[in-house]
Amino acid sequence: MIIKDNCSLLGHNTFGIDVKASHFVDYDSVDELQTFVRQHHDAGDASPLLHIGGGSNLLFLSDFCGTILHSRMQEIHVTADEGDYVYVRVTAGITWDDWVQYAVDSHWYGLENLSLIPGEVGASAVQNIGAYGSEAKDFILFVDTVDLQTGEIRHFTAEECRYGYRDSAFKHELRGRYAVTHVHFRLSHSFRPRLDYGGIRRALEERGINETDLTAEQLRQTIIEIRRAKLPEPKELGNAGSFFTNPVVSRETFERLSNKHSDMPYYEVDKERVKIPAGWLIEQCGWKGKAQGRAGVYERQALVLVNLGGATGKEIAALCERIQADVKAQFGIEIAPEVNFIG
Ligand SMILES: Cc1cc2nc3c(=O)[nH]c(=O)nc-3n(C[C@H](O)[C@H](O)[C@H](O)COP(=O)(O)OP(=O)(O)OC[C@H]3O[C@@H](n4cnc5c(N)ncnc54)[C@H](O)[C@@H]3O)c2cc1C
Repeated sequence: MIIKDNCSLLGHNTFGIDVKASHFVDYDSVDELQTFVRQHHDAGDASPLLHIGGGSNLLFLSDFCGTILHSRMQEIHVTADEGDYVYVRVTAGITWDDWVQYAVDSHWYGLENLSLIPGEVGASAVQNIGAYGSEAKDFILFVDTVDLQTGEIRHFTAEECRYGYRDSAFKHELRGRYAVTHVHFRLSHSFRPRLDYGGIRRALEERGINETDLTAEQLRQTIIEIRRAKLPEPKELGNAGSFFTNPVVSRETFERLSNKHSDMPYYEVDKERVKIPAGWLIEQCGWKGKAQGRAGVYERQALVLVNLGGATGKEIAALCERIQADVKAQFGIEIAPEVNFIG
């Protein structure tokens, strides 16, 4: 275990916000984490504990007066292999995309469309990460955690995690209470590519790849290329990917809006609800490529807020609020941040 005091978080958040944490703990085993949590409480320390992964979905508004926890555990373990399925336990500290590459190399299929999503495996089970028609929840069976109040181990089934669109119980009633230590995945031995989303078919065609000969590695590389062309690289331009979730509105609201805006894109959710791309709403409000001080809206994708250099978390949050107010005024819709505000 490594404990650092007064630790800079600049390298621990992809927004590039320059703040500090009172303490930063990198632990190497579940035992170490449990011992730390118990000692923290036995010492009567009331300062907060916050578990992070790669910091790619965090916005620090100020210095963090507490202890940041981070897993350095790096293990991928097959727990069962039956019929078409392989069951794999993966530690939270593994970089998500390394896990996807490992699965593809092992001929375990399902995760290809989730290639190159930044962050670590633990957060995938908190955030229910998703892209190109796939979500982490499609493959998660259960999650191992340590209770940050008692140090006890607790397992959650996928059902108990209450997964929804970019959502889980860990973002609501269980928020901040549990450290995810392992995620259990079920992957398939059969490759069944999902190609109906985000221009994947067109991208394959452009690369001269025939669908019938497609390999999982080719699909992964295609997704990686599509993503690289669309999203800013956090090392060059601080960001946390999509800043807002796409709002889901009633069919009545949708009808009202689409009468006014015939070009409004949308996705059917069910009979009663329709999802509208937040990026489109923001673009219609004229924000694409615009800035407010050192905080900006990415020029190629209005859903992404960027740190133009030296912005504070509060400056990014202020831009977020202005955009929310403009979308509300123009469309009557509330858009909510996907990014976790800390502080
Ligand atoms: C360029 C870019 C593109 C992105 N594209 C996508 C995308 O396509 N799809 C998508 O879904 N997301 C996307 N994101 C968002 C981000 O990658 C995901 O939310 C990711 O899961 C965050 O992982 P992390 O390890 O960085 O978590 P952090 O940002 O460190 O933490 C996120 C949240 O999870 C909690 N947490 C993290 N690890 C643990 C743990 N082990 N135990 C308990 N709680 C924990 C934190 O407290 C926090 O609340 C993108 C981000 C960027 C910068």
